[in-house]
Amino acid sequence: NELAVMMDVPVTQVISTCMSIGIMVSINQRLDAETINLVAEEFGFKTEYVSAEVSEAVNEEEDDEEDLVPRAPIVTVMGHVDHGKTSLLDYIRKTNVIAGEAGGITQHIGAYNVTLESGRHITFLDTPGHEAFTAMRARGAQVTDIAIIIIAADDDIMPQTKEAINHAMAAGVPIVFAINKVDKPAANPDKIKEGLAAMNFLVEDWGGKYQSQDISAKKGIGVEELLEKVLLEAEMLDLKANPNRKATGSIIESSLDKGRGYVATVLVSNGTLHVGDIVLAGTNYGRVKAMFNERNQRVKEIGPAQAATILGLNGAPTAGDTFHVMDTEQEAREITNKREQLQREQGLRTQKILTLDEVGRRIALGGFQELNVIVKGDVDGSIEALSDSLIKLSTEKIAVNVIHKGVGQISESDVALAAASEAIIIGFQVRPSASARKMAEQQGVDIRLYSIIYDAIEEVKSAMEGMLAPEV
Ligand code: GDP
Repeated sequence: NELAVMMDVPVTQVISTCMSIGIMVSINQRLDAETINLVAEEFGFKTEYVSAEVSEAVNEEEDDEEDLVPRAPIVTVMGHVDHGKTSLLDYIRKTNVIAGEAGGITQHIGAYNVTLESGRHITFLDTPGHEAFTAMRARGAQVTDIAIIIIAADDDIMPQTKEAINHAMAAGVPIVFAINKVDKPAANPDKIKEGLAAMNFLVEDWGGKYQSQDISAKKGIGVEELLEKVLLEAEMLDLKANPNRKATGSIIESSLDKGRGYVATVLVSNGTLHVGDIVLAGTNYGRVKAMFNERNQRVKEIGPAQAATILGLNGAPTAGDTFHVMDTEQEAREITNKREQLQREQGLRTQKILTLDEVGRRIALGGFQELNVIVKGDVDGSIEALSDSLIKLSTEKIAVNVIHKGVGQISESDVALAAASEAIIIGFQVRPSASARKMAEQQGVDIRLYSIIYDAIEEVKSAMEGMLAPEV
């Protein structure tokens, strides 16, 4: 109706135009930007958006190539529980792999930067695990440049190992494998490499493209070599940032400290953050009163790929929120107000989600080229069969990607991956856990449950053709 009034045409015409492009709408339904563009065009109007999206208000300008300088890679360690993530991060933090400053890093702030003998730097996210990684990504923060996937050589490639690999792949983050616990007599790194090869991850010494390093996180064997390989990977990414601009980055952790008020760890992705800057993150803001690095030293500024805890925010933002530096507190307050209002309106829904009903509509609108699905099932055979059939539904216009599949109940980690990758979850003979169901509801992730493979395939197919029967 609003759109019809603006264009001065009968509302029935707007509705029938919507129907002609496959969208059933009611008179007071809100349309998304894409649809508005399309409908307006039909009536000969051009659309212009005036700060409709709050995020636009803080969108930053592009950097000129000549302002860019190399920055350190940001690395996350992921893998199955007990395979040695914490041990590896601790070892790197505590030992003299790091030039000079042995034992210098005393604080756990969620991220730390190390200098290698060669003088080069790496920033580690000290919140290991793909759950944290994907939760952050779901909030719009692609914080990690490279993932180390750690696998214990005295064990097998475990479900969580596969999950971690899929989460890294879904994010498009290059992987370096660390085959750990080689000090153990039972260690058999070749068996792990064989397992990886079976998953189509051929490691370098077997003629493949994936770098891998045998290590002992406990004894420190191979860790230096591992870091060299990470740096090699980083070189290929040609990571750059402009230190001479207002900072942007991500919130890594945040908490309320009795004496100090709200404390947040920030990781700068571009620009330089200074004490005195006005930081806006999610629905919180404040002037940076003080900053401390991972060595608990007071610092005045931090640059790209550096992390620090900051004091001065008026609340605790969520990990994964992006932050921006604003010119005035008033501007920051206005944006947080708008964001709060938007969140209320959308029922706390903060990201754009995809449901199966939405698939056909988006295909009809064009420009929608990939349908990501996560397949969970009760037995391996049916998961493979279902995944294969879904992939075969791909057409010239749209590719169906199975970004993750696995045996077992639908978990929170699956929902987080779906939210981060705009994917639909298909459960075959399995159900979501209570917490996963709740999370899916909150984040608007579509979970579809089937007990017959044919039904699952038919429904996805109809959705792709824009003919999904309405849910009853
Ligand atoms: P996480 O769950 O992946 O963080 O694993 P941890 O780092 O907590 O390690 C799990 C267990 O494996 C601990 O008891 C570690 O001491 C042990 N561990 C980790 N790395 C090594 C290693 O290289 N060699 C040996 N022998 N034990 C290790």
